[in-house]
Amino acid sequence: MTHDFVHESRPGRVVFAVGAASRLAGEVERLGLRRLIVLCTPEQAELAAELTAPLGDRIAALHPHATPHVPVAVAATAVARSREIGADGCLAIGGGSSIGLAKAIAKDTGLPVVAVPTTYAGSEMTPIWGLTDGGRKTTGRDPRVLPSTVVYDPRLTLTLPTALSVTSGVNALAHAAEALYAPDGSPITALMAAESARALAAALPRVAADPHDLDARSEALYGAWLAGSVLGATTMSLHHKLCHILGGTFDLPHAETHTAVLPHVLAFNLPAAPRARAALRNAFGAGDPAAHLFRLADDLGADMSLKSLGMPADGVDTVVAQALSAPYANPRPVTEHDLRIMLGNALTGSCPT
Ligand code: NAD
Repeated sequence: MTHDFVHESRPGRVVFAVGAASRLAGEVERLGLRRLIVLCTPEQAELAAELTAPLGDRIAALHPHATPHVPVAVAATAVARSREIGADGCLAIGGGSSIGLAKAIAKDTGLPVVAVPTTYAGSEMTPIWGLTDGGRKTTGRDPRVLPSTVVYDPRLTLTLPTALSVTSGVNALAHAAEALYAPDGSPITALMAAESARALAAALPRVAADPHDLDARSEALYGAWLAGSVLGATTMSLHHKLCHILGGTFDLPHAETHTAVLPHVLAFNLPAAPRARAALRNAFGAGDPAAHLFRLADDLGADMSLKSLGMPADGVDTVVAQALSAPYANPRPVTEHDLRIMLGNALTGSCPT
């Protein structure tokens, strides 16, 4: 096999352990941060207060106003608050929405970010920011928004509701799957993505069977760390493009949309990506990875129909038009006909093969 790749390691420190949240104060001290603004959702304010209590006066403000997809007004308020209190760093506690708000501050101010993730979305490992303005989501890459330190504590995921655990896990699997056929993948990202897919596929049924199984939670979060890492290191393809359009156009829930779409895109792409197909087969220990993934998510109770997630039946035209309007990387050329088949199946929630 001839090798031809570019691999770049990104800076950033990862601390992963059951109970790692208790090391947060030490990690903040290590970075020399003295006036942190803490970002979280209103639902996680209590958790954030509890986790940051040992940091004492290093916490300058708790800002529990993160909302999905980082609306520009929410970002502007958080940036203003960070300036007003003279923050020297952002501490995000929560999922992609909380981490996204910290990134929005970092993008404008250059403040370093410390992240304590509580879902499997993976934003903490990427230099990707996202902002939503009037229903339109813009994303970009900026090394300044990549967290300096990430503290993974599987204990913090024990409260993640089972349904969201499954869909958030499949959201992570989507990063791993698309990294396996990314145009800028490397031998390192391929190894990480395959291991991520293995860990997530093995852990999710265990998490669904017993959400308090700390060992299964640890395996799922480990898979999510790897998935976030390859999301940050490679270029995503058709699946992420479609989910971005669907989320922005119809305000569909993030992780659930990824879950309903991924089997259909994999059924279409994997015949043109033999190495990715082999890696996923190996990781899932099953025949057809697309059908296996559909059944796995379906069996674990995920809603596999975009229609029941809120996509209007006549919305396919809009998505097809947007998906065809801008080029993006994909292992297989995509026609309007292909898109209609994939979206039609995802709309009704039928198994792709
Ligand atoms: P989220 O952050 O919106 O969280 C969903 C809900 O779950 C919230 O109500 C939150 O309070 C709650 N929650 C989170 N963790 C919990 C826990 N352990 N226990 C109980 N409740 C918990 O959802 P998400 O899927 O993590 O993030 C989605 C957002 O992240 C989207 O906006 C997406 O675009 C973005 N994202 C960005 C990147 C990136 O690289 N920039 C990567 C992935 C996702």
